[in-house]
Amino acid sequence: MNVLVSAGPTREPIDPVRFLTNRSSGKMGYAIAEAAARLGHSVRLVSGPVSLSVPPGVTLAASVETAAQMADAMKNLSTEADIVIMCAAVADYRPVKILASKMKKSEGNITIELERTEDILKSLGSMKHKGQILVGFAAETDDLEQNALGKMKRKNLDWIVANKVGLPDRGFASENNAATLYCSDGRKFDFQLRSKISLAEDIVKTITGVS
Ligand code: C5P
Repeated sequence: MNVLVSAGPTREPIDPVRFLTNRSSGKMGYAIAEAAARLGHSVRLVSGPVSLSVPPGVTLAASVETAAQMADAMKNLSTEADIVIMCAAVADYRPVKILASKMKKSEGNITIELERTEDILKSLGSMKHKGQILVGFAAETDDLEQNALGKMKRKNLDWIVANKVGLPDRGFASENNAATLYCSDGRKFDFQLRSKISLAEDIVKTITGVS
C-alpha cells in the first residue's frame, strides 16, 4: 500500500532568528515510516526539522518547517495515499505577524499575538477518499481515552494512537513508548512499554490487518 507519514515538530517564526516549536524529536514518526517500509509498503515521509536520518526504503517527500507548509505537503500527497498516518506534532498557534528584522529587547514585558494554524488532520479527514485509512495520534497528560475518542470522531479518523506524555520513561525524545490503539469500529489494542520501532510495527500491522 501507499503509506504517507508525517513526523517531527513544526517551527513557527517570530522574527528571522526566533521561532515557536515543541519537544517532538520525530522518533515515533520515523519509526512508523521505517516499520511500514519493512513490512513491504511504499512509504513517503513529510518531516519537520529533526536530527534523524531517513530510514532505509522510505522516501523523504517533503522537508518542511511551518504548519502551513506541512498542511500543503500532506494535502497534496494524501490524494495518492491508501494510509495516512499523522504523527507530527503540529503547532496549534503561530504568531500573527512575522517581523522582518530581529526584535530588539526593551524594558518591561512584551506580548506576542498568536492565531490558530490549520488542523491538518481535520482537513485530511474532511477530504478522505473512499477506502483511505486515516490515523491520528493523541499525546495527552490527562483523560487519555476520552480525549482520544473525541479526537477520532471530530477529525473523522479510522484509528487513533493514544499515548501518555509527561512521564520520564516514554514519549517525547525517549527511545520507548507505550500506547493504546483505538479503532472507529470500537476495537481497542493495548501496547505496553517497548521500543518505538517495535511499537510502530505493532501499530502498522494492526492497522493493515496483518497481525
Ligand atoms: O487535537 P490534537 O492536536 O491534540 O490532535 C493530535 C493529532 O492531530 C495528531 O495526529 C497531530 O499530528 C494532528 N494535528 C494536525 N494539525 C494540527 C494539530 C494537530 O494535524 N494543527
